[in-house]
Amino acid sequence: MPSPKPLVVRCPRCQGEALFDPSNRWRPFCGERCHTGDFAAWANEEFRVPATAENSDDPKDVALPGDSEPARSRPLSH
Ligand SMILES: [Zn+2]
Repeated sequence: MPSPKPLVVRCPRCQGEALFDPSNRWRPFCGERCHTGDFAAWANEEFRVPATAENSDDPKDVALPGDSEPARSRPLSH
């Protein structure tokens, strides 16, 4: 009785050989390191919050309404 040929796939993490077999609980990854490492990267990407510049507390950034009126309101007539 011929023994079934083990199916070897490419590990999506390290591009190495991974045994795609019930004995390999980390399939299709080659091992625990690649499996958990990939998950951590995915989770980190999933829950990453874009950093926003918090400059609203700067008083000199506050624009006063009505302060943009031109100083020269009367045109010169000669
Ligand atoms: Zn791997």
